Amino acid sequence: MNLGNYPQKSDGRYLLKKPDFEVIGQDVLNRFRPENLIRPMPLDIDGMMYNDLNLDILSMFISQDGSLLGMIAFDDCEWEVYTGNGRRTQAIPMGTVVIDSSLSGPEQRPRCRFTKAHEASHWILHRSYHSPDKRTYNFRPAPECIACRQDNIERYRWNYGLSRTEDEWAEWQADSLAAVLLMPKEVFSEKALSLMRSHGIYQSFLLIGERLTESRDVIDELAKTFEVSRRAAQIRMLHLGLIRQSL
Ligand SMILES: [Zn+2]
Repeated sequence: MNLGNYPQKSDGRYLLKKPDFEVIGQDVLNRFRPENLIRPMPLDIDGMMYNDLNLDILSMFISQDGSLLGMIAFDDCEWEVYTGNGRRTQAIPMGTVVIDSSLSGPEQRPRCRFTKAHEASHWILHRSYHSPDKRTYNFRPAPECIACRQDNIERYRWNYGLSRTEDEWAEWQADSLAAVLLMPKEVFSEKALSLMRSHGIYQSFLLIGERLTESRDVIDELAKTFEVSRRAAQIRMLHLGLIRQSL
């Protein structure tokens, strides 16, 4: 993706604001998966990663305590992976996403899909910073891979203060773009509103603490439509003003 229009910091990282992710996500989908901007449906995230972004996807246990859910290699690197017999060093080629094996089961599928979208978003947003291929942007040595912690994926509240570290900014960016790719603003909002109407809710948002059964059903059906977790759907609704605290 060409992110050339966005301002960069002196270290080569892009400065992006919240609305930028809607635009970047729409550009990505428009180019690779335009049907996802028209119909409410699950994004074929595997297909997009393999065919459009040329990423490989592997499944391995990448941390001992399950604290890491995914990682992406911007250059060939090595990583300690955990097997039944202990641990070993695994070569991870450039352009490989590794999803933690704890996300392998069918009930983990929505979470797994979000983690893949999060890693793909690192590739889209942060490759020029980490990749040795684009040395013009690589103003200082950057790690060859990013490993992403559980608490930075499908996260609702971020630290917006000055104390946010560069890595936290990168995690916030990847998480924001992942949500846009899986739940594009317009089709997601339209689907949410039509589900609300079908459950007899005629205002344009759910109110926290009211119509609990209907609200739960709307969120469940929305999550199912886009094959995301309830949590991811809820966070996206909150960010788009489709769930509100008060009138
Ligand atoms: Zn990450």
